[in-house]
Amino acid sequence: MVGKVNAMKCKDLLALLGDYVDGTVDPSLCEEFERHMGGCTACQVVVDNLRKTIRVYCEGRERALPDAFQTRLHEELRIRWKETHPAKNG
Ligand SMILES: [Zn+2]
Repeated sequence: MVGKVNAMKCKDLLALLGDYVDGTVDPSLCEEFERHMGGCTACQVVVDNLRKTIRVYCEGRERALPDAFQTRLHEELRIRWKETHPAKNG
């Protein structure tokens, strides 16, 4: 029970996004993830956009995301995240 109670930061959230959308993120992290989102509008926007993107994709396809799509998605997220998160706390 040490070191896991730190509040999640935007950077941590971004790092977990891939696992989160894959549904493979640790449930306890998922809780942190959602708690952070509850207080961070910028991350809400990013995740909301991500969900929309995935829903659009899933409607026409299998659930699994191909590597190329994931790579592109992550790139897009990084850009979006930079736009919504002014570089004040790294
Ligand atoms: Zn955030």
